[in-house]
Amino acid sequence: MTSVISVRDVSKSFGPTRAVIDLDLEVPRGSLCGFLGPNGAGKSTTIRMIMSIFHADRGAIDVLGTSALNAKDRIGYLPEERGVYRKMRVGAFIEYIARLKGLPRKGLRSRVEQWLERVELPDARQKRCEELSKGMQQKVQFLSAIIHDPEVIILDEPFSGLDPVNAQLIGSIIEELRVEGRTILFSTHVLPQAERICDRIVMIDQGIKVLDGPIDEIRAQFDPRVIKVDPVEPDHRYDDVVGVAGVESRDGHLHLRIADDAQPTDVLSAVVAHGPVRSACIAQPTLDEIFIEQVFRSRGSDAAAETREELTHG
Ligand code: ADP
Repeated sequence: MTSVISVRDVSKSFGPTRAVIDLDLEVPRGSLCGFLGPNGAGKSTTIRMIMSIFHADRGAIDVLGTSALNAKDRIGYLPEERGVYRKMRVGAFIEYIARLKGLPRKGLRSRVEQWLERVELPDARQKRCEELSKGMQQKVQFLSAIIHDPEVIILDEPFSGLDPVNAQLIGSIIEELRVEGRTILFSTHVLPQAERICDRIVMIDQGIKVLDGPIDEIRAQFDPRVIKVDPVEPDHRYDDVVGVAGVESRDGHLHLRIADDAQPTDVLSAVVAHGPVRSACIAQPTLDEIFIEQVFRSRGSDAAAETREELTHG
């Protein structure tokens, strides 16, 4: 595995606060990696260390085989805090950033126009940054991170301040950038956003890494082995279906526990054959559920309940 970003055994404290503890993180070339965890988990601190903004107390970090400072023109970085020049016009601001990153003046204006159209801000070029809403400024700042076509893109909370439609739009652009061959690391505490697009995840909780790997493997590791079914007849009973080890009614569905020795697809077929259903599927754990389960395993039920509350109410 060739890592484009490599964080090895890194720790960072602020006074008594241990923000990041013994963290290892590798982002392979061409991957789209979600860096996840609740507020205060240590994501921004890690990203700032990757970007050479903070020094690690110990450990080693490199990006593209060197420091982020040395490779800065090959990296696109969206910081968590908003940083547009309020009085500057949007087009001039993005062009200015692009010039700082070494793009030639020729063709720059039309490049900026095309990108503004792509993020659905076709009329923003002549507006001052301060005239834009919070979400629009976030999109402008996102463009200023990617306008120079960087090989590596590091985004700290890219969906911050965006409504669901715009979050989806930026998510789709991030996916396209990956398909074109960029390596991308982005942080978010909104796990359903990450779920849709990333192929790898790294999760941290209280500065400690709790999960790391390809999302499919992590899902398989947390497979609840449950079939969710919504029968046409609400009283239909499934206790006698071969491969069903138990039945529970939850969230408006029946949850059928799959016996340890049964194949989920066989049980699903048997369930559908047993009686008419509105829907039936093999349950897939969401990242929220995985995270809560992981917190439960490492810190117990009170912490898991708190995490559930945080994830539900932000
Ligand atoms: P996240 O990005 O996951 O929300 P952060 O990395 O911002 O988390 O914060 C991790 C911890 O470090 C928190 O307890 C936060 O209060 C603390 N922290 C972050 N930056 C600073 C700082 N500059 N000074 C003091 N404490 C900080």
